[in-house]
Amino acid sequence: MIYLDHAATTAVYPEVIREMTPYLHEYYYNPSGAYKEGRLLHKKLDEIRIGLAESIHAKPQEIIFTSGGTESDNWVLVNAARTLSGKGRHIITSAMEHHAILHTCQFLESCGFEVTYLTVNREGFVEPAVLEQAIRPDTILISVMYANNEIGTLQPVRELGQIAQKNSIPFHTDAVQAYAHIPIDVSEAPIDFLSVSAHKFGGPKGVGFLYAGEGTPLSPLLYGGAQEQGRRAGTENVAGIVGMGKAAQLSLEHMNEYALQESVLRDHLMHRILSEIPMTRLNGSSKKRLPGNLNVSFQGIDGATLIAMLETKDIYVSGGSACSSADQAPSHVLHAIGLPDDMALGALRITVGHENTMEEINETFENIRSFVQELRQIS
Ligand code: PLP
Repeated sequence: MIYLDHAATTAVYPEVIREMTPYLHEYYYNPSGAYKEGRLLHKKLDEIRIGLAESIHAKPQEIIFTSGGTESDNWVLVNAARTLSGKGRHIITSAMEHHAILHTCQFLESCGFEVTYLTVNREGFVEPAVLEQAIRPDTILISVMYANNEIGTLQPVRELGQIAQKNSIPFHTDAVQAYAHIPIDVSEAPIDFLSVSAHKFGGPKGVGFLYAGEGTPLSPLLYGGAQEQGRRAGTENVAGIVGMGKAAQLSLEHMNEYALQESVLRDHLMHRILSEIPMTRLNGSSKKRLPGNLNVSFQGIDGATLIAMLETKDIYVSGGSACSSADQAPSHVLHAIGLPDDMALGALRITVGHENTMEEINETFENIRSFVQELRQIS
């Protein structure tokens, strides 16, 4: 099998599984337990919190364990609506966010909040001037993703955060695709909230964290026990958090090496597709994009059919985002960058991981070329 869908999820690293396993049977206690084993687990979680905080230059108390990207994203938006509605009811986000943001915004609109969905340019960048123009006296949150999950565009987060800061508006960034793949430093950029998910960097599913800058108002999303200093109720997913900590450590240790390997493979595939298959187009920026991300459109081709044909050869890629792959509507991200329907429906998202090889990339290319030729001959 050739797996080229690393933006959807990654395999859990074997070292991560080894690290997690004792926490499923040997150290199965509740970290809130009033005995030694509980206290030891609590200490272990705090050690992991310190490591994760260091990884983004934050303080340990600014890291809150969650169930992943969706919860972290939902929490930040709902929190703004709850804690800042006295100031206003206007939220700014971009038109190409993940549905964890967009659908929460739609929910908030149904509760009477107003949302501005910033347009992006043809490469998928939010232009700082566009953000500046959208700000109103009643704006209570700006949320723009660090890196896009479909086209890999890296946003000018620092500049956008500075605009938010200048206007005294909290700034959130969904860094689910970026964390542990590219460097992130919250001490350098004015970021108040940042979402992370472990399954995008060799960790398990269903665990992640929210960075919430000290002093930024944060009310709980989940009510119950006093875990996470009363900010996030629910018995901690101990094995998951241990796994996330190990996956982050490994990914960060090898970040430059993995990024280089992925971008070499990605660039090779990109150049072959664009130069050897006619009527193709790169979606997103050619420079400021995630190292493993390639998104290309094949004019006149139905992307879903091409994906299914590749699957017959055990090659796994995707079209739009994983969550909308059953949906035949053109991806909202490709629409946002101005692609017409036929090009948007003819898009493939190929996301390379460091464990892929040049042989796999060349085999994938040969199959894409022959299937595209076959489909074009039929039509
Ligand atoms: N945000 C982005 C940019 C994502 O790519 C994803 C997952 O695909 C999420 C949020 C949701 O994260 P999770 O799967 O941890 O809920």
